[in-house]
Amino acid sequence: MQNILNYINGEFLEPQSQEWLDNYEPSSGKVYSKIPNSDERDVALAVKAAENAFPNWSKTTIDERSSILQRISESILENLEILVIAEAKDNGKPESLARAVDIPRAASNFKFFSQAITQFSTNAHESVGLNAVNYTLRKPLGVVGCISPWNLPLYLFTWKIAPALVSGNCVVAKPSEVTPMTAYLLSNICHNAGLPKGVLNIVHGLGTTTGQAIIEHPNVKAISFTGGTATGEHIARTAAPMFKKLSLELGGKNPNLIFADCDYDKMLETTVRSSFANQGQICLCGSRIFVEASIYDKFKTDFVNKVSQLNVGHPSSKDTNVGALVSKPHLEKVFSYIDKAETYGGKILTGGNKVTVKGYEDGYYLEPTVIEVSSNDCKLNQEEIFGPVVTLMPFKTEEEALQLANGVRYGLAATIWTNNLNRTMRLSSEIEAGIVWVNTWMMRDLRTPFGGMKDSGVGREGGFEALRFFTEPKNVCISY
Ligand code: NAD
Repeated sequence: MQNILNYINGEFLEPQSQEWLDNYEPSSGKVYSKIPNSDERDVALAVKAAENAFPNWSKTTIDERSSILQRISESILENLEILVIAEAKDNGKPESLARAVDIPRAASNFKFFSQAITQFSTNAHESVGLNAVNYTLRKPLGVVGCISPWNLPLYLFTWKIAPALVSGNCVVAKPSEVTPMTAYLLSNICHNAGLPKGVLNIVHGLGTTTGQAIIEHPNVKAISFTGGTATGEHIARTAAPMFKKLSLELGGKNPNLIFADCDYDKMLETTVRSSFANQGQICLCGSRIFVEASIYDKFKTDFVNKVSQLNVGHPSSKDTNVGALVSKPHLEKVFSYIDKAETYGGKILTGGNKVTVKGYEDGYYLEPTVIEVSSNDCKLNQEEIFGPVVTLMPFKTEEEALQLANGVRYGLAATIWTNNLNRTMRLSSEIEAGIVWVNTWMMRDLRTPFGGMKDSGVGREGGFEALRFFTEPKNVCISY
């Protein structure tokens, strides 16, 4: 059994408490490794290492930082297959998905920010008539905390770490305790790529012990967090009075608005993906599907037909479309919504059952499930289920569609399917979501701002937004 270790000050360390957690393989339900449950002593050691590394790291040239990140990116690609298998084993996702999306994207995160920093510039303002010039410096913050969830483990972990490091900060990072393996492998990669000791420290453990120690530590100047809304609220409560900078990427309940004038085949194929990719465990999945009444029955038949053909199976199987859910408690949480679907006013159109995969009988498998609802106010449409479950509901007018889309506490992403330009412009402007896709889904340009409104979070990641978050502007005014 492989024990995962903390990576602190360039060394691989056991937790000081000697407390270890079981790490489960979702596809078999078996424990396959142990991870440290680090406490405030381990976090204090990591923060100290980061503080010691900061003076030198923050003064390295842009070229030096950029080329180390470039090397990390290349090394992720060289180790692609190892990381793919590790990610699928740790998370339950199909290897094909980890190979096409998760791991290449983790490499892209480092490559993108290694380039973005070379284009990041500051402003100067000539105060005409006052004989003065102002210029703005952007200084790294110091030690920053990066905390990530389990659904896209390496992808989201690196989405934070790369911009934090390249802008000159030193990092104390914690991956989800549910999926720690690829972050552990990344510590090796960063070490071998020549990242100086203490610049990146990765501590493992529970949110309530390790995570809590990071957010409470007075010398951690900023927290970049991705995870659930309740955790985000708790982090804000703890860190805001300490005046830490906060970036919170939280939950979602994204609408998918389908109009009769859309490109039907492309919409249908993409909607299957936007509903069930990664077992529906992507914060951007469209879990509330609203369809214009004139094509509702046709869509319902075609969609249910396609969904019922999806293969639920082991992550390593080439035929698998839907792998295992990430953990037993999560499977039970998702299943509880299906179980009570009728009580909540829903009608299951397909799916709804746990699946036994031959040879992996204790794995956490669930059929992709489509539930028809008659009101957007029901729990199925209001609460984040975060699994392979979507709801369907018809609408009659554009106004009604907009109301349904916005009738939820979340505001992360929305998808609109239409070929009507005016409608596209109106809805894109009025929909309460940080990210709007029209006639596509999950197409990402890393320069664009990424994040949510309402209860989906505060702040934006991506491109220069991330570099701004991880730096502090300082204005200098010189009179001449
Ligand atoms: P979670 O909030 O339970 O955990 C996320 C991370 O926070 C984990 O590393 C966890 O250990 C840590 N954590 C928990 N309690 C903490 C505390 N008190 N202090 C510090 N850290 C703590 O979320 P999850 O279940 O891992 O992930 C699923 C959630 O993440 C869903 O709600 C999903 O929508 C959201 N998500 C959002 C985005 C986005 O970009 N907005 C992306 C992916 C996932």
